[in-house]
Amino acid sequence: MALRRREWLALGAGLWLLPAVAARHEQHRLFGTPVDLLLPPGTPAAASRAVWRGLHEMNTRWNAWKPGELSEFNQAIAHGRTARVTPALRGLIVGAAQLERLSLGHFNAGIGGLVGQWGFHADELVPGSAPSPAQLRRWMAARPGLGQLHIEGLEVRSSNPQLRLDLGGYAKGVALDWALDTLQRAGVHGALLNLGGNLAAMGLIGGRPWRVGVRNPHGPGLVATIEVREREAVVTSGRYERFRLLDGVRRGHVIDPHSGEPATGLASVTVVHRDAGLADAAATALLVAGRDRGPEVARRMGVQQVLVVDDQGRLTASAAMRSRRA
Ligand code: ADP
Ligand code: MG
Repeated sequence: MALRRREWLALGAGLWLLPAVAARHEQHRLFGTPVDLLLPPGTPAAASRAVWRGLHEMNTRWNAWKPGELSEFNQAIAHGRTARVTPALRGLIVGAAQLERLSLGHFNAGIGGLVGQWGFHADELVPGSAPSPAQLRRWMAARPGLGQLHIEGLEVRSSNPQLRLDLGGYAKGVALDWALDTLQRAGVHGALLNLGGNLAAMGLIGGRPWRVGVRNPHGPGLVATIEVREREAVVTSGRYERFRLLDGVRRGHVIDPHSGEPATGLASVTVVHRDAGLADAAATALLVAGRDRGPEVARRMGVQQVLVVDDQGRLTASAAMRSRRA
């Protein structure tokens, strides 16, 4: 399917894609969001079939609220048992544990119990009430984190039975890295993959770089356009898409593990980095860290290119981000 300009603009989730030239467009619904793969015309169909197969598999294995490898892992932890994991899940756990340390705990993939209490482990987000202060106190007292996991080979146990793994802030980034690696191995060097606002691109399209728009979290239009050169991820984490009305107040799906409450202060954070898994975790961590602690967290995570829109609509770009915007 070839796309024209206006159709490209309609693709947006966290990000909009700006037109370069006609590309082949394939779309599936995964990870609770439309997933778009754009490829230069003439790319062999077999290359993208392998990518879709892998993404479908990750989607079922690593969903925090549906049966699959992740829910089996969480059940084992809840019952104090040792879980046996696949090498892929082991890799995600090790990666997420390292990112938790680097982010000073703002990114915490052991947060599943808390995310569930706030009602975000569901396909449809319905209005309701916030969890009770007693519920939140119980989670805060237990303070699960991946530092409490003990990994030996493919066996993982937790010294904290309250820990519930939730890869919602990280797995899409890892999936992007995997997908582009897979395409490159198949000899495809130009592609753009958008997993609901988590986007990665490589190569050129029609001899030009891919252009990615960063959506305005407060209304229509874009706050920036970024030209992706070589291979890079552009990942946005925001409070404007997945939220619940709780006691009449809009609460977003990114939770601050230090307070037990949904993050406040920033409307969206966009991170550009070669490593999409890192960019995904960093965007989530920086949304939690907010304006004051953000620069320190970014520095520790090794992230230089950051674009932030706060609740008042003020835009702040790091120097490295300013110097590259198209
Ligand atoms: P999106 O899924 O929209 O790309 P994020 O990457 O920010 O957004 O991921 C948000 C998801 O990450 C939440 O739905 C939840 O599953 C999980 N999560 C929430 N808070 C945190 C946190 N502090 N650290 C790690 N994961 C989190
Ligand atoms: Mg994230």
